Parts: sequence; C-alpha cells; structure tokens
Amino acid sequence: MTDVFDTEKRSAVMRAVKSRDTAPELKVRRAAHALGLRFRLGRTDLPGKPDLVFPSRRVALFVHGCFWHGHDCPRGARMPETNRAYWQAKITRNKARDLVVRASLRRLGWTHVGIWECQTRNAAALAQLITRRVGNRRKA
Ligand SMILES: [Zn+2]
Repeated sequence: MTDVFDTEKRSAVMRAVKSRDTAPELKVRRAAHALGLRFRLGRTDLPGKPDLVFPSRRVALFVHGCFWHGHDCPRGARMPETNRAYWQAKITRNKARDLVVRASLRRLGWTHVGIWECQTRNAAALAQLITRRVGNRRKA
C-alpha cells in the first residue's frame, strides 16, 4: 500500500497530530485538579520542561504522545507508510531525550512521571493512575 500523502502534506498532517496532543494534557490537568492536587505549569527551568509539576511532592509529570515517544501500544506502533526512516529516527531521538531528562530530574531530586496519551482516554482510569503515581507520593 502506498501512502496517499506526499512528503510535504504528510509533514503537515503529522504536525496537526502533534498539536492535538495537548488534549491529553488538558485531561491530565483536569483529573489532577479534581483530585485536589496542587500543580504548576510551565516550569521551564526544569529538565525536559515538564507539562505539570507538583512542587510539594517534587514530581515532574510529562504527558507523552504515543506516536512521538514510541509507546508500545497500537497508536505508538502506527507508522506512516512513507518516510518511515525519518519518523523512526525522530521517535528514537525523542526516546533518547526522555531518558536523559529522566536521569537529570532524578539527580535534582525530582521524580519523573510519564503518562501516555492512550492512558488519558478513560477518566476514571486516569484518576486512578494519577493517584497511584502522584497522589500517594508523600515523600516531602
Ligand atoms: Zn500509548
């Protein structure tokens, strides 16, 4: 099967996919808020620029797009028909950077929590996940 999009069009499509990845982030914010967790946005001074930061728990949370960060799920495995090498290289770079970010945060005494886009679909499951990974971290 050949790809119906030429390279330029495909890039535009993939960019649109990426910008839609903010919807999962909004779901995570809403869920964290509903759980009564206090968080901050836009802590650009921290490695990787976390999407949400829970200062009292020293938790830095990232919402990862399954495609962009190479999640082992159906969405993450879906690869464009053309320019596979290009996309694959991009995803590999993203994954490598995620590992560096995680290590840098750990050195600074922060806990890295990654939530996948596909884990934000079910609100109840998302609330449970956040409770487990953020809400119970009463280290501080
Ligand atoms: Zn996924």
